[in-house]
Amino acid sequence: MSCPGRDPSSEQLNNYKRNLKGEPVLLTANGAPVAEKKASLTVGPRGPMLLQDFVYLDEMSHFTRERVPERVVHAKGAGAFGYFEVTHDITKYCKAKVFSSIGKRTPIAIRFSTAGGESGSADTVRDPRGFAVKFYTEEGIWDLVGNNTPIFFIKDPLFFPSFVHTQKRNPATHLKDADMFWDFMSLRPETTHQIMFLFSDRGISDGYRYMHGYGSHTFKLVNSKNETVYCKFYHKTDQGIKNLSPEKAAELSASDPDYAIRDLYNAIAKKQYPSWTLYIQVMTNEQAKTFRWNPFDLTKIWPHEEYPEIPVGRLVLDRNPENYFADVEQAAFNPGNMIPGIEASPDKMLQGRIFAYGDTQRHRLGPNHLQLPVNCPFKAISAMHYQRDGHTPIYNHGGAPNYYPNSFSGPKECPAVRSPPFHLSGDVDRYDPVDEDDFGQPANFWKKILDEPARERLVQNMVGSLRNASVFIVERAVRNFARVDIDLAQRLTDGLRKCGIEINALGKSANL
Ligand code: NDP
Repeated sequence: MSCPGRDPSSEQLNNYKRNLKGEPVLLTANGAPVAEKKASLTVGPRGPMLLQDFVYLDEMSHFTRERVPERVVHAKGAGAFGYFEVTHDITKYCKAKVFSSIGKRTPIAIRFSTAGGESGSADTVRDPRGFAVKFYTEEGIWDLVGNNTPIFFIKDPLFFPSFVHTQKRNPATHLKDADMFWDFMSLRPETTHQIMFLFSDRGISDGYRYMHGYGSHTFKLVNSKNETVYCKFYHKTDQGIKNLSPEKAAELSASDPDYAIRDLYNAIAKKQYPSWTLYIQVMTNEQAKTFRWNPFDLTKIWPHEEYPEIPVGRLVLDRNPENYFADVEQAAFNPGNMIPGIEASPDKMLQGRIFAYGDTQRHRLGPNHLQLPVNCPFKAISAMHYQRDGHTPIYNHGGAPNYYPNSFSGPKECPAVRSPPFHLSGDVDRYDPVDEDDFGQPANFWKKILDEPARERLVQNMVGSLRNASVFIVERAVRNFARVDIDLAQRLTDGLRKCGIEINALGKSANL
């Protein structure tokens, strides 16, 4: 009998007990029954212990190895399972079987996360939220690994380690550091667009159900005639957008740091299944050549008016993880996991992530992590390859030949899925795109998307953070915001003055 008013997440253990059939016997890891688990093996009641206490050794030596490395970014997360259902026909753009017919369902897993904090950090911080979807298709795993924002801070992956360091802890003080954050951001103006999203209302979503998700990158779609278009994917929440005020978020950080995990678990347990509608935007190769922005720049969106939203289907989450470590911590997402019909575009960030994600999963979980149940392409299990051995293979292909080519019925290529060739040319160099327009889209966001109260909240949120940085950095940041809109910079200057911080950014902005 439980106390009244407990939510489903609090009832998990009672539910487990209720659903259990029989009474399991306690075993050691090698399967031998354990007679006594309440005392270690000692010489007399006061010890010492004996090395032959296998029950202790077995337990303790596994415990000391319980943790796998925490994700460098997106360490704190929640996950669930469900399905993707096609509602609209996009086969004229894409031959991937996941989209082959209206009504078709494909199993999915989604992992949501905060980005900068550690695994024990609070869910309600101002931070981009990860939105990673794993589609278990019959052509293999397709991972669409994005965020709740359509853009990102940087456009060249060479900056990624430095950028992430600025979101983490100062190497001496082990504290979050406003100088590190605003120094990097103000030195790299391409961060401006995402910073404005971050400090706007959508910078603190109310849990994970009330936010959109974006594949963020530009991808290439291939149809059955091998014709290609470029594409962006995004998932719009069917629950509607809901955000937390900074005050409420701060209160929850103290009273319920796991707010977002709890909210998702309870909603699904109560059968209030969250869902999202999947859309694509499509750009032809010709349009890509003349688009006024670089269509492969992750700091830019494609305007809806020119590249309208095309509905594709619905993602529904209807099953909670049975075991967090196995189902969520071990879920290994990799933007390089693509399927026939969905390919990379020249987007440098996508290209960089295709290496980095697989690499970090091999570090975290080992070379055979794609054989773990949550990552396994179980709908394509008849497919085989020539990878063998390494740490803890689950499926090591029995007696099948381990080399290619061979004469013994090893798996063969599938020419039908060959990607259409594409032409590339250019001078090899390191291009720092300092002359690209970093302010036009943030200006649209400020003027066209935000209403007056939202603009005011954005300014207040930015002032609340900027005020903690060194004055020379604040001045440089405000000079950047002056290039978005002089009114934004003026309001930041006024807001900072109210906090006792005098800056001379606008005088200098005339010299930009
Ligand atoms: P549209 O008016 O056609 O689309 C505006 C988009 O902004 C919608 O997706 C809308 O989402 C989203 N939005 C609304 N309020 C906010 C907010 N407070 N924070 C973040 N996003 C919000 O305009 P354009 O496509 O021409 O884009 C104009 C500007 O809107 C862009 O420069 C960009 O800054 C921003 N934006 C554009 C997106 C895109 O993919 N085109 C996506 C998100 C933002 P909703 O449907 O929930 O209202």
